[in-house]
Amino acid sequence: MGWIFREEHEIFRKSVRQFVENEVIPHTEEWEEKGEIPRSIWKRMGEIGFLGIEYPEEYGGAGADFIYTLVFMEEISRCGAMGFPISVSTHTDMASPYLNLGTEERRKKYLPQIIKGEKICAIAVSEPSGGSDVAGIHTYAVRDEDFYKLNGSKIFITNGVNADIYFVVARVGELNEEDRHKGISIFIVDKETSGLKIGRKLDKMGWLCSDTAELFFEGCRVPCKNLIGKEGEGFPVIMRNFQRERLVISIISVSASQKALEDAINYARERVAFERPLSKFQVIRHRIAEMVTQIEAARQLTYYVSWLFSQGKATDMKVSMTKLYTTEIANRIAYEVLQIYGGYGYMREFPVERFYRDARALTIGAGTSEIMKEIIAKRLEL
Ligand SMILES: Cc1cc2nc3c(=O)[nH]c(=O)nc-3n(C[C@H](O)[C@H](O)[C@H](O)COP(=O)(O)OP(=O)(O)OC[C@H]3O[C@@H](n4cnc5c(N)ncnc54)[C@H](O)[C@@H]3O)c2cc1C
Repeated sequence: MGWIFREEHEIFRKSVRQFVENEVIPHTEEWEEKGEIPRSIWKRMGEIGFLGIEYPEEYGGAGADFIYTLVFMEEISRCGAMGFPISVSTHTDMASPYLNLGTEERRKKYLPQIIKGEKICAIAVSEPSGGSDVAGIHTYAVRDEDFYKLNGSKIFITNGVNADIYFVVARVGELNEEDRHKGISIFIVDKETSGLKIGRKLDKMGWLCSDTAELFFEGCRVPCKNLIGKEGEGFPVIMRNFQRERLVISIISVSASQKALEDAINYARERVAFERPLSKFQVIRHRIAEMVTQIEAARQLTYYVSWLFSQGKATDMKVSMTKLYTTEIANRIAYEVLQIYGGYGYMREFPVERFYRDARALTIGAGTSEIMKEIIAKRLEL
């Protein structure tokens, strides 16, 4: 038991693990092949209460703390297909939390459907011209009486095809070079809104069961009441939710690495070469010892910053350090564990092959490693 968990967290862990073993793992192959997660599993998660962990009870949530989210993300990340926790966390932690800053009326309308898994969410920030420079986005919104008209496009949007509710970032007014953050605003866009076009479902290297799409806004008419917070003041709101997003990616990175390493250890014990199990070769033993140590360090950093986050005390520097370290470690682990499997590791039928592909996106999505280093360096006033 990690130092931050109470007994209730561990009881909750058991129920999530059971769900993953019985209702997720048997279907991941099929979901990966189809490139999507069926609606039925979203509704099932809604029924059990997994999609509203931290939301208030009045909307159907559990009103629990971030440590429950940590447990939930750790457990669903052991399913062997990272696309699943990515898709689910996009819904629960990367997109829908913007509603916390919306009006009560919007929360009442959207949160119960989101928590029940009846409606799926996506967050649309990145654009074809660049994802790292959030303040430099080109999608713009113009006020037209009781509506805003959105024009522009988005790319790499997780749940882009299957979502029902899009949290879209757009600029109101011209780009002000003196203050590039000014004008950034967040809108709730329902799928059926006129002028929203779902583009191609993108063909990816990994995260296959999580659909990723292009979106186009052509005079997309969004009611003013769907503006989140104040017009033009969305940038700090986005940066704040990026902390949650980056911590969740860190949790996924550590937990999926842990599972891949456990599998590799079992393989090393069973596989015989030169009449000895692989685990008896010093080079393999040392490689495993290094990996266990790296994962433990990554996990403790993630736990510590998750705890700070749950207390409202996590700085962007600490979160960036965590995202940087855990996602880079996951990629090192992916390289090393695949090597332990030899030729089998390169075969699609071995889960490590998918882990290797899935790990690659971790240092890119939710802010690249370079951007994490920029944030850390900035906080050091370099
Ligand atoms: C599978 C997947 C799912 C995604 N899901 C979503 C989603 O749901 N919603 C969403 O909005 N976005 C999503 N993204 C987009 C993701 O957030 C961006 O890919 C990421 O922010 C980087 O943006 P970019 O790809 O445009 O690269 P760019 O910003 O063009 O960067 C290219 C390279 O230059 C480096 N670079 C850029 N600026 C700097 C700098 N100042 N200093 C040093 N190096 C720099 C980057 O680190 C990178 O290596 C997803 C991406 C992937 C791959």
